[in-house]
Amino acid sequence: MKYDTRIFKLLKNEEIADGIFDWTVENDELPAMAKCGQFVNIKVPTRTLRRPISICDAGDKTLRLVFQVKGEGTRIMSEMKAGDDVEILAPLGNGFKIEKGKRYCFVGGGIGVPPLLFSAKQADNPIVITGFRNKDLVILQDDFKKVSDKVYLATDDGSAGIHGFVTDVLKDHLDEIDEVCACGPIPMLKAVADVCKGKVNCQVSLEERMGCGIGACLVCACKTKTENGEAMTHVCKNGPVYNAEEVFYE
Ligand SMILES: Cc1cc2nc3c(=O)[nH]c(=O)nc-3n(C[C@H](O)[C@H](O)[C@H](O)COP(=O)(O)OP(=O)(O)OC[C@H]3O[C@@H](n4cnc5c(N)ncnc54)[C@H](O)[C@@H]3O)c2cc1C
Repeated sequence: MKYDTRIFKLLKNEEIADGIFDWTVENDELPAMAKCGQFVNIKVPTRTLRRPISICDAGDKTLRLVFQVKGEGTRIMSEMKAGDDVEILAPLGNGFKIEKGKRYCFVGGGIGVPPLLFSAKQADNPIVITGFRNKDLVILQDDFKKVSDKVYLATDDGSAGIHGFVTDVLKDHLDEIDEVCACGPIPMLKAVADVCKGKVNCQVSLEERMGCGIGACLVCACKTKTENGEAMTHVCKNGPVYNAEEVFYE
């Protein structure tokens, strides 16, 4: 079984920062199949299309999902209560490839940070760099500190951590690392890819509006670079993680 739909029990729903919610959901079968960088597609009550959310962490029977309220779907999710049933399609997509013996640096921006927690847990001696607009949006720092003793925080306005961008921090650590895994807004991913180009390999996780999550509806079509030119791929099925050099950042 690669992925399937199951009813999960919502065990916890906590607001951990301004408009950002932290779910723990439980099911006996699907969480153990999750790999880092994959996502789930959530059936939101009263909405037809599911909402894709990255796997922030996974245990044998639980998934942790951290999301920001953006529109109606995530608002409804934020109001759900512990004990509610949630229909979830999981685990989906191709996540980050983490190899033994390599030193990884995980670079995240804003609500792109959550999938890096489960990913950093798979790596030996990882470095973690996260960036947020301001201190009110900072999340998961204590969780990352349990996984790594090199956790760096940057904010755009300097209200927490280093005043600057994740790339400012990354530049100082390039000679310590073998590979970068990044997730965040497209301008950040482009900047990270530019810093890494010709120096270290870089994987990026893309967020594209999507419908089905399994490659059937083709909503999340994305043009990628290949050896022979260009190809259309689908973020839900071929991604969400791509090699940074394959992506058109526009
Ligand atoms: C692979 C993947 C992983 C994601 N992981 C996270 C995460 O861990 N945490 C988090 O907060 N957000 C994540 N997102 C973004 C999240 O899916 C959207 O913010 C959410 O679907 C918005 O739904 P809404 O109903 O609140 O907003 P609306 O804008 O009202 O949504 C309307 C429609 O657009 C779709 N949509 C809107 N924005 C996005 C978007 N950025 N990506 C895909 N579909 C969108 C919705 O599915 C819905 O069908 C992820 C997106 C993808 C593709």
